[in-house]
Amino acid sequence: MLDVETARLKILDAFVPLETIEVEVAHAAGMVTSRDLYAPHPLPRFDNSAMDGFAVKRSDITDVPITLPLAGEVRAGDAADEPLPEGSVVRIMTGAPIPAGADAVVPIEDVVPIEETEGSDTEVTITVAPRPAAHIRPAGDDVAQGALLVASGTELGAGEVALIASMGLSPVRVHRRPHVVVLSTGDELVAPEADPGPGQIRDSNSVALRALVTEAGGSVEVVGPIADDREAVHDAVLEATKTADLIVSSGGVSVGKYDHVKEVIEEVGSLEFWRVAMQPGKPVVSGRAVDVPFLGLPGNPVSIHIGFEQFVRPAIRKMRGCKELLRPTVTARLASRIEKRPGRLHFVRVKLRFSEEGFVAEPTGAQGSHIQSSLVGCHGVARFDVDDSVLEEGDPVTVEVWRLP
Ligand code: AMP
Ligand code: MG
Repeated sequence: MLDVETARLKILDAFVPLETIEVEVAHAAGMVTSRDLYAPHPLPRFDNSAMDGFAVKRSDITDVPITLPLAGEVRAGDAADEPLPEGSVVRIMTGAPIPAGADAVVPIEDVVPIEETEGSDTEVTITVAPRPAAHIRPAGDDVAQGALLVASGTELGAGEVALIASMGLSPVRVHRRPHVVVLSTGDELVAPEADPGPGQIRDSNSVALRALVTEAGGSVEVVGPIADDREAVHDAVLEATKTADLIVSSGGVSVGKYDHVKEVIEEVGSLEFWRVAMQPGKPVVSGRAVDVPFLGLPGNPVSIHIGFEQFVRPAIRKMRGCKELLRPTVTARLASRIEKRPGRLHFVRVKLRFSEEGFVAEPTGAQGSHIQSSLVGCHGVARFDVDDSVLEEGDPVTVEVWRLP
């Protein structure tokens, strides 16, 4: 049986970043850049004022207080093509360009307030001498021309798209999102809105998978419930190959009499492997349906989450062009003793909290693969290594972090 790491490498081998598209920067958050982006100009582009106040030439301020004539005004958006007249000041607003000849800004706080100057609007009394270049944001202070702004393979967030917008680099070239078709199989399933009859259950896996694919950055289409009938599974798989970059199925991959997914994949494509030494989620079918990558996860609700995190999410991220495919990990102290049989890597759902000694990982209760409540408020999974059978309270564990508390 394959170990998790080997299985993931085999799966990821089948994926490459998808082709690129151009999108307006306003709609590029959540997409991944396909090239390095460099600054076409400095940022800020021109010297500008960091304060509302007065642009001055420092050598005109021989002593303080000093009263100088007010020669005009520069507002944000003005071109400021008039130089500062010798021996005067101009009123200036935050973000307005510094006129030629000025070498500092005196903020409003450092002049005599207008109510105390009998409303005079023709001169200004400066009470504090400015330091050299005071309150001037020089061109290139933020980013020098030619500097690397965002490397290829970066997931764009609000900060990145804002910088790209400032630099006039819209539209931006990104990888398109992968389209994931989710097939939910099981005779027992009814829609979440339905009243289940005797022996029936509500289809929660397709709801989980829709949320998981969306969070991973894919677009998603759910098909199902699909009956545990070989022909129904066969037809649904073939239909999905028409649009999917990746097909993910739920259920029907074990050795039960009505588990048809594996045979269907052998029939319409190729089976690569179908078991991984992990708990929960051992029966994982990896292969191709026609030429579309296919990942079949076992139906137990926790297995869906774990299998998705280990295999599907990294595959989606690889198609999106992400550099980082895996969740970050932290080392945490285990809050309570746990046991298992050696032979498989166990993923223990935990809540994380901070303490003076760092992270503490608290198992979220019963760990059966059907215990859905163990996923509520779960921050990630602690790895309980293949060969280990006991972890004591206080032992260090590696936690794959899904979200932080
Ligand atoms: P299977 O992998 O098809 O043998 O299913 C394993 C367990 O997961 C069974 O108890 C199923 O009833 C349950 N299960 C399968 N599909 C779903 C689903 N879509 N939502 C919730 N539970 C499911
Ligand atoms: Mg089933």
